[in-house]
Amino acid sequence: VHDIGKNIVGVVLGCNNYETIDLGVMVPCEKILETAEREQVDIVGLSGLITPSLDEMAHVAAEMQRTGMHLPLLIGGATTSAKHTAVKIAPLYQSATVHVLDASRSAGVVERLLNPKLREEFESENRQQQAKLVESFQRRRQIKLVPYRDAVAHRFRTDWDSVEIARPAFIGRQELHDLPLATLMPYIDWSPFFAAWELRGKYPAIFDDPQVGPEARKLFDDAQRMLEQIASQKQLRAEGVYGFWPAAAQGDDIILYADESRHSEAGRIHTLRQQWERPGTEHYYALADFVAPVESGREDFVGAFAVTAGIGTDELARHFERDHDDYNAILVKALSDRLAEAFAEWLHEQARRDWGYGRDEHFTNEDLIKERYRGIRPAPGYGACPDHTEKRGLFELLDATRATGIELTERSAMHPAASVSGWYFAHPAARYFSVDQITHDQVEDYARRKGMPLKDVERWLAPNLGYDPQT
Ligand code: SAH
Repeated sequence: VHDIGKNIVGVVLGCNNYETIDLGVMVPCEKILETAEREQVDIVGLSGLITPSLDEMAHVAAEMQRTGMHLPLLIGGATTSAKHTAVKIAPLYQSATVHVLDASRSAGVVERLLNPKLREEFESENRQQQAKLVESFQRRRQIKLVPYRDAVAHRFRTDWDSVEIARPAFIGRQELHDLPLATLMPYIDWSPFFAAWELRGKYPAIFDDPQVGPEARKLFDDAQRMLEQIASQKQLRAEGVYGFWPAAAQGDDIILYADESRHSEAGRIHTLRQQWERPGTEHYYALADFVAPVESGREDFVGAFAVTAGIGTDELARHFERDHDDYNAILVKALSDRLAEAFAEWLHEQARRDWGYGRDEHFTNEDLIKERYRGIRPAPGYGACPDHTEKRGLFELLDATRATGIELTERSAMHPAASVSGWYFAHPAARYFSVDQITHDQVEDYARRKGMPLKDVERWLAPNLGYDPQT
């Protein structure tokens, strides 16, 4: 659903005199291949943002092979990597399959692929690199994964008799409509903004960078002007919903109760547990470890949120695109993303106040960015909870689509793209971690808990499978 990266590639290639056909977002494989054929293109490029798109890219590569195509295939986007391309995509397609690390490299790659004198050498280098990556992947595959049962036995433990459990000021959900953008602006984390433009460096030190400093300053000034315009003319709308629920861990599930009587369930979070053995660590984390288990007899709580600052983004970006003003179209999208993240940060602070333990906080924005506060807000699709489909339960719990206008696509991506959703955990030791690779026994257990066919779960968790689902 997100197309900043793709649009920058289009601009870079356009500036280098290549003609690109931009098919948009969430484009079915058939349409990509039909267009490639009809328009006699030289190269096909795919851009992906969230992990489910990786699977779709592999599908496109397999289809190109099946239909006898020979065009080079370029792979790029936030969740892609040279390694993933080498291991999961390139083996499905016999012609050149090239991972492009960032948009600025796209013109160089395209030039070498289209120049008969350079192409052969480039392709053979690419193949050699990919062979090495496959080899190192196979070595890494040998990291030891303990059986799921052992990981559960060595879960992160809390002394539930003594640990302090905070009680939120309210139970249930609260909606926030048309939150003033001026409230959110001071909460913007600017470093990822520059990263979206491929200017590397931390804000504000980036302004002193001899290479990118002047560019960064100019971009920042433009961003301030655009933000002011967006806020004063109310061109974007920020909508959110959050809430707290009585909760208890049951195995690796977290039960969310409808009310404090704790009789009926309002929802469930299905968590995944680490299984990889790391030297010096004896715990295997799952988010369920941060919530008091049913049998502890303690009353615990979990929060949830969904926010967007992207209501109006597409219209505003289209307005600039119609004037062939790609720069401002991209700027609008990048700023919408920043405002959505700022909204998540602002609301998390509010939630910590509601929860009590954050009432006396005095953090600067830098402290917030560095996560110096207590508690976490893990987002489905990220390391600690890599299953994007958990957003479905989260959205139901929050009635998020009705409250905010954020929709979940078939691939469980949020639309508008400038949206953030997740859960709040208040446990004093709660931290982010990465589930990484997991084994068949856990996937089976997880599929049963979720009531989802094993094959479907394997498809959604493809990047996390420590085994080959075919065998
Ligand atoms: N200041 C950043 C914040 C976004 S990244 C910005 O403006 O872009 C940090 C967020 O990503 C966290 O708040 C959390 O929601 C999510 N996240 C990071 N690591 C995670 C992990 N391991 N598991 C789950 N969610 C994670």
